[in-house]
Amino acid sequence: MIVRLLLVLFNLAWLPAAAAQTCGTAAPVQVQVLGSGGPELQDRRASSSYLVWIEGRPRVLVDIGGGAALRFGESGATVSDLDVILLTHLHADHTADLPALVKSSYFEERTRPLPIYGPDGNRFMPSTVAFVRTQFDSVRGAYRYLGGFLNPLVRGGYKLQPQDVYPLSGKLKARRQPGDETVYPFANERLRASAVPVTHGNIPALAWRVTAGGKNVVFSGDTNGRGEQLARLAQGADLFIAHNAVPEGASGVERDLHMPPSVIGAIAQQAQIKQLVLSHRMLRTLGKEEETLAAIRQRYAGPVQFANDLDCFTP
Ligand SMILES: [Zn+2]
Repeated sequence: MIVRLLLVLFNLAWLPAAAAQTCGTAAPVQVQVLGSGGPELQDRRASSSYLVWIEGRPRVLVDIGGGAALRFGESGATVSDLDVILLTHLHADHTADLPALVKSSYFEERTRPLPIYGPDGNRFMPSTVAFVRTQFDSVRGAYRYLGGFLNPLVRGGYKLQPQDVYPLSGKLKARRQPGDETVYPFANERLRASAVPVTHGNIPALAWRVTAGGKNVVFSGDTNGRGEQLARLAQGADLFIAHNAVPEGASGVERDLHMPPSVIGAIAQQAQIKQLVLSHRMLRTLGKEEETLAAIRQRYAGPVQFANDLDCFTP
């Protein structure tokens, strides 16, 4: 009773449940893990999502799986500050909170367009453009009441700009710099982002490299690690966030979709990455950190950390 009286007297009831757990300005570039889990709710983690902070502002959102919208708010980020959203693929554990993020932004003052880059489609998945339209098209979209975010005829607010990264359109090819074979689907005055297709079963998937403030951060997304593209993309990265979705010895569908720790270690070694963070932790890998680390150590000797929601890493 006394506590309640005090709360009313000092208006403490209106304080937020928890202070923002922002990365702050400890370093010019930081990566915050919004979701360190996989699709299982029992892992008690948000699904896949990362935020790149540049000079203390959240500029790049990589994936937005279930639960990540809540973490986005907890991090102190606002959609208004984002330069771009990068999607690795369109599985629900990487995209399910997109409508929550977009709806929340309705209450902000953003006016500039918000680009969303993701993979092209195939017979198992829509393209990123089709995926975003399926949700926000003002006539046929599931959330057609939010159609103003896509429809150029609706005035006010800002527009989502979904774009498919592969196959390379003429527009994307034009972004090639002379003497630089890398294609940057997105680049502005403070950052650039490049992608390579990676193998994730039969689902179109991308790994992303974000360059800002002289630092390079690479996000593997979900992949079985087959092929040379990921190691090439990750070459010399300051921070490599790899998905620890299956334990060593995984086989069948699991192995077709995800890379075991030994493969993560091999790629980290081959790419000479400076710091490795393991995320997308699932019930089948949680509790196996020691053996995971041992398998990685066979190949890679650099620093390794296991991610938890809202952790900040400095590349
Ligand atoms: Zn996933």
